[in-house]
Amino acid sequence: MELLTRKCLLALGFCVVMLSVFPSLMNGAESHQVTQRVRPMVSRDEPLGRIFPPETAGTTNSAARVKRPFTVTKAMWGGQESSGPLRHHRPLRITLHHEGSPKPLTPSEDPKQLLRNLQSWGFRAKGWPDIPYHFLIDLEGNIYEARDLWAVGDTNTQYDPTGHLLVTLMGNYELQTPTLRQLESLCDFLAWLCDYYNIDPSTIACHREFVLTACPGKYFAPYVLSGYVEAEVRKRIRAAYSTGQAK
Ligand SMILES: [Zn+2]
Repeated sequence: MELLTRKCLLALGFCVVMLSVFPSLMNGAESHQVTQRVRPMVSRDEPLGRIFPPETAGTTNSAARVKRPFTVTKAMWGGQESSGPLRHHRPLRITLHHEGSPKPLTPSEDPKQLLRNLQSWGFRAKGWPDIPYHFLIDLEGNIYEARDLWAVGDTNTQYDPTGHLLVTLMGNYELQTPTLRQLESLCDFLAWLCDYYNIDPSTIACHREFVLTACPGKYFAPYVLSGYVEAEVRKRIRAAYSTGQAK
């Protein structure tokens, strides 16, 4: 009897460990559902000056107040048009990735060339119609436009990216740490995306929260999982609405 109880406790302990190590086991099949993940650094009670009704998610907000950061267009980085049919979706949530390059990205590399390489590799090796992500950010914090935001992204892993806006840090954050400029630029950009496309900031999540993957890397993921990114995004939205700053 005692042995049985001990076995049960061990099994229970194992489940708890599995669920805490692999939260994706709990959240696997909910790509459309907005979940309120616990983010220790976020206080969601503080008013933002605007609300995010779920039915408006993925529609444009003509009264947006967060200033749109400058983005480098496809034409500016020398990208090609999409090479195949794209599937249309409404962007309902934001999912963060890293590019996962084999080596850490260094300032000596040309981000525009890397984007052109990524796009042609996707065409050639994966049969993807375009870069799998919607936006990418380099070490200097420059933001590059990639796949059209109204088209579903692509993934090497088993989760459905429909409804996800895929924003990616260029480089490998298993091997390097994000730069301050990158993080600032990411938060500025996400604040604008949330405000303009009516995407609730509490949807900001990591790729690894949907499927078993290291993405977006152990040196970047904690900024998201702790709630640092969401808190910074909320701060920016609140500031734009409290000062009455127009775009
Ligand atoms: Zn990823």
